Amino acid sequence: MDCRAFRNQHVAYVDDFLPGEAVVAMQRHLLECERCAAHDAKIRRSLLLFRNLPPVETSPDFYSRLSARIESERAAPKQPMFAARGPGIGMFMGVAASVVTVGYLAAASLHWTAPRGDVVLAPVVATEPAVVADVAPRTDTSFHRPAGPRTRRAMGRSLLRPAGHNLGDA
Ligand SMILES: [Zn+2]
Repeated sequence: MDCRAFRNQHVAYVDDFLPGEAVVAMQRHLLECERCAAHDAKIRRSLLLFRNLPPVETSPDFYSRLSARIESERAAPKQPMFAARGPGIGMFMGVAASVVTVGYLAAASLHWTAPRGDVVLAPVVATEPAVVADVAPRTDTSFHRPAGPRTRRAMGRSLLRPAGHNLGDA
């Protein structure tokens, strides 16, 4: 028997509703498994505690008062479910609108809504000299060259070479 089967049958085991073989299997698992033994002890201790609680005594007229109360509730006219309790929907909408307005005004006054003027681009780092790109297409295909030769040439012209240092179109 595994722990899951033990736990599944434990209530019946405690209440002594299991057939004899199952009881023996449960007892064997209790001897083998420390965790289930602890679980069993905890449940039995709780049950013992619960059964030894003093019975709750009600006042002698409890039941007559209870039934009178139930009768009076039953006889009372039914309240509509949406009885106005608290502010109505108009009040709610007004408050919601003013909250949104205040939030927008605060955001606008703090310039959260204005477009940011200073867009900073990431720095461009060139690791390959541009001259090499124009001599001949290189045969090695290392991963430092993700772009094709044509794109690389264009990039070399625009980015890597200073103005006035054009080697002519290749
Ligand atoms: Zn177990």
